[in-house]
Amino acid sequence: MRRRARVAVALPFLMLATTTLNAQKPPSAHSDPPAGGPVWLDVYRAPASRLIGEAVSGTFAWDRLATLTDTIGNRLSGTPALDRAIQWAVAEMTRDGLENVHTERVMVPKWVRGSESAEIVEPVRHQIVMLGLGDSVGTTGDGVQGEVLVVRSFEELDARASAARGRIVLFNVPFTSYGETVRFRSMGPSRAARHGAVAILVRAVGPSGLRTPHTGALSYTGDAPKIPAAAVSTEDADRLQRMTDRGGRVVVRLKMEAHFEPDAPSANVVGEIRGRERPEEIVVVSGHLDSWDVGAGATDDGGGCVVTWEAVRLMKKLNLRPRRTVRVVLWTNEENGGRGGLGYRDQHRAELARHVLMLESDGGVFRPQGFGFTGSDAARETVKAIATLLSGIAADQISPGGGGADIGPSMQEAHIPGMSLDVDGSKYFLIHHTPADTVDKIDPVEMAKCAAAVAVMAYVVADLPQRLGE
Ligand SMILES: [Zn+2]
Repeated sequence: MRRRARVAVALPFLMLATTTLNAQKPPSAHSDPPAGGPVWLDVYRAPASRLIGEAVSGTFAWDRLATLTDTIGNRLSGTPALDRAIQWAVAEMTRDGLENVHTERVMVPKWVRGSESAEIVEPVRHQIVMLGLGDSVGTTGDGVQGEVLVVRSFEELDARASAARGRIVLFNVPFTSYGETVRFRSMGPSRAARHGAVAILVRAVGPSGLRTPHTGALSYTGDAPKIPAAAVSTEDADRLQRMTDRGGRVVVRLKMEAHFEPDAPSANVVGEIRGRERPEEIVVVSGHLDSWDVGAGATDDGGGCVVTWEAVRLMKKLNLRPRRTVRVVLWTNEENGGRGGLGYRDQHRAELARHVLMLESDGGVFRPQGFGFTGSDAARETVKAIATLLSGIAADQISPGGGGADIGPSMQEAHIPGMSLDVDGSKYFLIHHTPADTVDKIDPVEMAKCAAAVAVMAYVVADLPQRLGE
């Protein structure tokens, strides 16, 4: 009966929360908070409904992301734009009424793209749509020119090693999954340099787009010279493949001014809602504020910053103060160094053991599906029960494997349970690390639901009578 009463109180919020989402739910799911489940969960049904209702009652999260990406834009490590974004976030968190708002300084690498271009110069001239890979060295003077060798795998490269000398190697490997295909971007430069290649091109790591190149970091190894490397659009990769398949020389010229400058000061941004009973125990929610230097860094990862920050703002706004502290961290330098996550681990070593859970949202803020989770079986059971509070927004799935590039170092150091926001990923890699990563790709209602899901999960984990997993 008590549960019924709570449901009735929460109904206006629930109606708001469910009006726009039933179309996406399987027919067997229902919108009311599910009956059953452990008794301890009952006390959380009303706060969960309030958090969801507040999150989806407007477009606050999307508007904030639009402001960030329109007024500041992309935010590569070491740029004034990232500095402005950090100062903006501090001011906005303070305005939200968050507690203990501050920055935590770390030094970050400063890679500068400069101007860049690529063209086919033989047998006919064609401009190539390209983006230099992050952390690549540049070319000298007039650029590097060479006959193209197209390969479709590392095995083919090794089999044709003698043909790679003095050439520009193109890795033309169609996108399957990011994990499978990204290795040609990260490892391709040194693999080709070992065989004497003078530069590499890599087919953009993403599904075929509209002639969209995808940047992203490469990773040179110590056993080969550093050679310039660039991503080319799938259309340009396919053209180079067709031209070389016809036989005869295909020559490309690549010009890149890319270089490193000395490390620059940067910072993680931190804000909190302090716990009412055990403030020294901490739940971290997070996204990374830096981005690549193309597009607006909306999906990667301005959106993750805003929806995790929303969790804390919503609690504050609704006067829901959990037992433990919920801390939002906006990381610096995820994309090309990971110094923010490493810096946090080092600066917070003394309190890592009191971190109850760390969550990172870095897979986009499209339609939420639930969370990936890494932790003990007992913790997983608790998290699964909490996720049932999100069935009304169809974000109740708990899948194996939770974590993130920035929370990883701390998770490993202190065996902290880790979580990632899982969303419909079908659009993510179309725009990932491209000029098309802009806020218009993000739906305000889906984004609000992401914020709701993170808020409910973080609130309940932070408020549990017993620490997660105990
Ligand atoms: Zn990211």
